[in-house]
Amino acid sequence: MCYNTFMKITVIKPYGFCNGVVYAINLAIKTRVSNPQTPIYVWGPLVHNHLVIEQLTRNNIITLDQSTPLKELLKPLDKGFLITSAHGVSEDISKKIKMLGFKHVDATCPLIKKMHIQIKKELADNHEILFYGQKNHAECLAVLSIDSEHIHPIYDYQKSTKLLLKDKSPAYFAQTTMILNDSLNMYHSLKQDYDGLRFIAANCNATSTIQNNLITALPTVDAVIVVGDKTSNNAENLISIVKKHNKTAFFIETIKDLNIESVLKYEKVALVSAASTPNDIFEDVIKTLSKFGD
Ligand code: SF4
Repeated sequence: MCYNTFMKITVIKPYGFCNGVVYAINLAIKTRVSNPQTPIYVWGPLVHNHLVIEQLTRNNIITLDQSTPLKELLKPLDKGFLITSAHGVSEDISKKIKMLGFKHVDATCPLIKKMHIQIKKELADNHEILFYGQKNHAECLAVLSIDSEHIHPIYDYQKSTKLLLKDKSPAYFAQTTMILNDSLNMYHSLKQDYDGLRFIAANCNATSTIQNNLITALPTVDAVIVVGDKTSNNAENLISIVKKHNKTAFFIETIKDLNIESVLKYEKVALVSAASTPNDIFEDVIKTLSKFGD
């Protein structure tokens, strides 16, 4: 079989960890450095990348299985620090962690914290909130836990039932990692049912810049390699953008997952990284592909 051996490669920028991921990892490492002998645990994945989790484990920062109820999970463990993820955590969970004798280290991304503050302000002003999120995603669960009576989740417009709200100007927020266009489309759909709905911008710039740069590059490429963890919502969104534009998507976690021969069938290939993909992993992919093009 004859392959194209001189590919045109487009690297979508920026790549590497977003600020929220850097913040969460630094906080975990700082906690370890200041407390070399104390047990440190993370409640579920700190960020959605198993390579990061493995690196934390090497630093004796142990990730716990979130599917076990918290009390049962912590009971047999020696007391120490419990870190919660970059996606945010409910205040109830924070209280429970302290009640169970652990020190809570909150690694919520500052941008998500800012959104929580905006949501609380809206609630304090007696507004109802429509929140567009992904069912059971940690960020969405943390937001809903702020006030489950006045924050209404919207997962799918077609399947959502119109609510009878007394508030004539409810606020609309979306999970930070949603595709910006999808968030806007959802807002316009909901606006038909809730005339006075107000859009409160909370999308993540890191995410939307990568998504927009990818969308701009798509007409000029044949295929896209998305480098990210299979559990990353951010990576999933990049894949869905590529597919919506009818281009071929390769979803890999590291260069080892890539079947180079399949990629060599394409002349113009773009490389894009999820916000929780380590730099060196992405650069490995660039380096390997560069041997076949520029
Ligand atoms: S992707 Fe954006 S919202 Fe999510 S952790 Fe990173 S900076 Fe924060």
